[in-house]
Amino acid sequence: MTGAVSTDDLVAWVRAFRDAVHAHKDELTRLDSEIGDADHGSNMARGLDAVVAELDPAPASPSDLFKTVGMTLVSSVGGASGPLYGTLFLRMGPALGTETEVDAEGLGAALRAGVEGVVARGKAEPGDKTMIDALSPALDAWDAAAAAGPAEAARAAAEAAARGRDATEPLVARKGRASYLGERSAGHLDPGATSATLLLEALRDTLAGAA
Ligand code: ADP
Ligand code: MG
Repeated sequence: MTGAVSTDDLVAWVRAFRDAVHAHKDELTRLDSEIGDADHGSNMARGLDAVVAELDPAPASPSDLFKTVGMTLVSSVGGASGPLYGTLFLRMGPALGTETEVDAEGLGAALRAGVEGVVARGKAEPGDKTMIDALSPALDAWDAAAAAGPAEAARAAAEAAARGRDATEPLVARKGRASYLGERSAGHLDPGATSATLLLEALRDTLAGAA
């Protein structure tokens, strides 16, 4: 694709994330049943269904889109993940101003603002066995690949997210519900790192398709 990502591309990304969460809903719930309360799949599916219901008519700009997504997730998902994913999108919007297209650097900066918002809200650091373990390496990979354009940046970010997700398996959780299990949280993938990888993989697939 060219260097520009359109509002339509980003709407397609959000829809693709909804579809991926539905396709992996049982897996997300199973992971959360091992170290949490077995609601991550249903939390995310419900929230993203509510989001998609707000996308017709389509938002006018990426910042409008992300504001709508964030507000809808915050208001429709219980549990830790709704406010955290909601914050991610709410913080992405203002980083983009009123432009109707973004380039790889701009989208990377927006993602970074979003993840910084999640960290400010949830206080998780890399290694705490949360969604941050997928999101944080994805940002670094995005930035390293941004000069090659958004499709390549998204490909690199999705790969880094998957590695970060896989690396949560041996970790002991230090944040969220899984931390109540202490050492027994080790030996399981983190559900939120798994859904965060779906988010980046949905972006990769959407931007590859726009090529
Ligand atoms: P809940 O834990 O309230 O049931 P979910 O099951 O929907 O909410 O989401 C759990 C996921 O949320 C975890 O797997 C983890 O990745 C993420 N999470 C929990 N607490 C935090 C936090 N403080 N910072 C970042 N992510 C977190
Ligand atoms: Mg849960």
